Amino acid sequence: MRWTQTLIPTLRESPSDAEILSHQLLLRAGIIRKLAAGLYNFMPLGIRSLHKIQKIIREEMDRSGALEILMPALQPPEIWQASGRYEAAADTLFKVNDHSKREWVLGPTHEEVVSTLAAGEINSYRQLPINLYQIQTKFRDEIRPRFGLMRAREFIMKDAYSFDKDDVASMSSYRKMYDTYVRIFRRCGLKAFPVEADAGVMGGKHTHEFVVPADTGECEIAFCDSCGYAANVEKADSALQKTYSQNEASTELFETPGVKTIESLSKPPYSIPASQQIKTLVFIAEDKPVILLLRGDYQLNEAKLAGLLGTVIFRPATDEEVFNLLKAHVGSLGAVGIKQVPVYADLLLEGATDMVTGANKDGFHIRHVNMSRDIPQAQFVSIRTVKNGESCVKCGKPLSIRNAIEVGQVFKLGTKYSVALGACYSDEKGEQKPCVMGCYGIGVTRTLQAVIEQNFDKDGISWPISVAPYHICVTPLNVAPESEPMKWAERYYAELSSAGIEVLLDDRDERPGVKFKDSELIGIPIRLSIGEKSLAKGVVELKRRNGELVALKPEDAVAEAIKWVQEELNKLS
Ligand code: ATP
Ligand code: MG
Repeated sequence: MRWTQTLIPTLRESPSDAEILSHQLLLRAGIIRKLAAGLYNFMPLGIRSLHKIQKIIREEMDRSGALEILMPALQPPEIWQASGRYEAAADTLFKVNDHSKREWVLGPTHEEVVSTLAAGEINSYRQLPINLYQIQTKFRDEIRPRFGLMRAREFIMKDAYSFDKDDVASMSSYRKMYDTYVRIFRRCGLKAFPVEADAGVMGGKHTHEFVVPADTGECEIAFCDSCGYAANVEKADSALQKTYSQNEASTELFETPGVKTIESLSKPPYSIPASQQIKTLVFIAEDKPVILLLRGDYQLNEAKLAGLLGTVIFRPATDEEVFNLLKAHVGSLGAVGIKQVPVYADLLLEGATDMVTGANKDGFHIRHVNMSRDIPQAQFVSIRTVKNGESCVKCGKPLSIRNAIEVGQVFKLGTKYSVALGACYSDEKGEQKPCVMGCYGIGVTRTLQAVIEQNFDKDGISWPISVAPYHICVTPLNVAPESEPMKWAERYYAELSSAGIEVLLDDRDERPGVKFKDSELIGIPIRLSIGEKSLAKGVVELKRRNGELVALKPEDAVAEAIKWVQEELNKLS
């Protein structure tokens, strides 16, 4: 492709609404353009990289035996009602009405559609296992679309759905997708880590996210550098470090006028460390109250709570609800003597003694609380969010919490959707059984940006060659048709192209500085530049995006460039 014949609208300055570097580079390199918040046009360079990512995904999915299909983006709401997600996912569902005012859902994902499809097409165990996938546009009404392609309202996803006869077979489909994802991200030049994750609204029990560590990432991951344990903080656990004194003193009421927070109780005159306080939270889960107890220095983990309660429909109780239940206001709440409401306490509190908690009497707390003696009704569960520096559950070494970008996720779903939508098969004995499902997503457009997030420097993008829009940029420094540099450039363009190398010929009549800056900004992995001065010395210059300049005889440049491209491609094949 000739630069003058395509559309590469590079920008010198970053648009002010691009908060993170990868987003700025997408705009500055002319890869995407914004239509509205969370909606982007893919420009010619962008679509080339996107197609390459899609090609890698297709090759690896096909290699795994999965079958490509394409499902409609527009979906009837009835199937969402049948799965229960019309309510549970209501916040992010885009809905539209047709001319007769009938409502439709714009698909944020396709478990419901694929299960309906399977209900019609899968009848017998002989058809299993089967894995159906598509690459398709998804719609989500994100509360805060931001960071460019990272969190968009409309984005491209690869989604796959496996159907198996039982759990064991489903686990093997899951493993196969897990391995496929490892290969896909490696081939895209992305260092993505599989981490244990929380199943959230999806149902399912077993799930891994593939994440790319990045300061700008929106998920937090607990990593153990020592043994490799890695889990989303929504799911992560740590080894319990309980250092409670064995104080057997009886409980004692004491006055705490005006004290409403853990922090104020930790200051003089009380000076009770947060780790010696019990934090009492009241939540309403599907209309019923529950009391949650955490150590004062920990935060509630809502994802773990959802797993515990088996629902995502819960919220903190209002002040009025709290008062009606416990006869005290927030700040003086506790669970001593509470029988009428289920009480869940975080595992760290198991066996705790000499703790301080609210007395359910405004302006009073209780000290010397012994969990097993004074709150015996509590059930111990993991509901806290782990913190930086806690000990790894697997090896005991310190965990570090880092931000990361989720690029993909694999789920073992079980039979939630197959039961709800009738995706059943008849087994060897002729008995009807629900298919055991798995689902597997990759954010294709998010992956494109994640590749940039991991591959850039002060001059711009540095594409891994497997997903670069072009392999090589041929840069004549004089573009007059009869000039020596242009004659060589035309020859290189023709010869490299016919060898299957993807060439961008920078035929713009611009200063060398502008051309070099632009080719670095758009991140083409290799540049071959031809200037009059160097030709006079009998050389042209070949340079990797991150490497040294190599001077070559003009007639050797094509063979050398092909070798470099092949070397780079082989690294990622
Ligand atoms: P997130 O937690 O980031 O909202 P998710 O867990 O809801 O993502 P999934 O339902 O697992 O997303 O979707 C599969 C993949 O689609 C994700 O791993 C991610 O790469 C991508 N994805 C999800 N939401 C968006 C979005 N709003 N914009 C771009 N990509 C997205
Ligand atoms: Mg996910």
